[in-house]
Amino acid sequence: KVMISPTFNEERPLRSSETFGKFTPPVINGEHRGNEPGHVFAQRMQVPGIKQTMFCNSSEDRIKNMDPLILELVNTEIVDCAPPVQWTDIAGHASVKAVIEEELVWPILRPGAYTGTNRPPKSILLFGPPGAGKTLLSRCIATQLGSTLLKLSSTVLLSKWKNESEKILETVLYMAGCHQPTVVFISEIDLLLSIHVNEDNTHLSNLKAQLISFLDNIATSSDDNIIFIGTSQRPDDIDEEAHHRFAKKFYISPPDSLARRQILHHILAQQNYCLSEREMASLVQHTEGYSGNELIQLCQQAGANHLHSISGQLQPTSYKDFEGAFCKLRASTSQKQLDLYMEWNKMYGSRH
Ligand code: ADP
Repeated sequence: KVMISPTFNEERPLRSSETFGKFTPPVINGEHRGNEPGHVFAQRMQVPGIKQTMFCNSSEDRIKNMDPLILELVNTEIVDCAPPVQWTDIAGHASVKAVIEEELVWPILRPGAYTGTNRPPKSILLFGPPGAGKTLLSRCIATQLGSTLLKLSSTVLLSKWKNESEKILETVLYMAGCHQPTVVFISEIDLLLSIHVNEDNTHLSNLKAQLISFLDNIATSSDDNIIFIGTSQRPDDIDEEAHHRFAKKFYISPPDSLARRQILHHILAQQNYCLSEREMASLVQHTEGYSGNELIQLCQQAGANHLHSISGQLQPTSYKDFEGAFCKLRASTSQKQLDLYMEWNKMYGSRH
């Protein structure tokens, strides 16, 4: 029977306490601005050595002139307050993580020590199936930079907040410059940068133009520490002009067998389970194509099956419970769709 402590770091095995130890809450900068607009931006993590830009008078003035309701919405719904994420919390994607750490994170954390000839990338497109870790990776980048994370969903922007969407996007992009370093994260970015947006749709084409001009600005400004991350499940819907503006484009695939094993171990370690090494190998084999999120759901389903099947006696989750869970939960992304991602990656993806 196996009970291996999980680690998601392929190169440097870690003690389990190091990898999945309790999250340490970030140090909050003691500055408080009460209910003043933009006050959330004053509460932020500190990363040693990083130069942090404070509000300047002109931005204070501009913020005072902004719609207080929109500012409140940005503060409460868009500034992301999720727990920090470390590199080792992400299974697989070793080479993507290495490139991002070397080329994007380090030049911001240690600008003097960066000797690369290329301008560090300021915009990244993460594409791939749902639940594969795009958001997790983005949160990790924000944690590593000790930055404010402004997290926006294109779907929400275009539905729930449709009437105010231009103002909201403008405020978010403006706020990104106010208290750097900042990571601006927009999911389903294909909706805003779609190939199908044309001048007939003034609303969408304004949003697209706003974003493109923002991407151009951060690419050329060497003083700013603003990173833009767009995620997409439909990269082929993104206008070619627009996707060329992303300095890096990475395919975030479903986990490979090693990463699946690590994720399964990690989740199962939190519940009472009993699997032989052979059964674990079989689980890994049968979950090809499952996303990280689907692996979590599978383990939860197996746990639930097991609760239903026992009568009063506490038994660990077994392989039989997984057999039931497999009937209910298949991988949602087809091989054909994964092949399309790989093709797009071959054409436009960044080397890593
Ligand atoms: P996406 O943004 O690609 O749709 P998420 O990053 O939101 O997916 O992933 C959903 C959840 O699935 C994460 O919060 C995490 O719990 C789990 N997960 C997905 N991929 C991984 C991974 N590579 N390593 C560890 N956990 C993962």
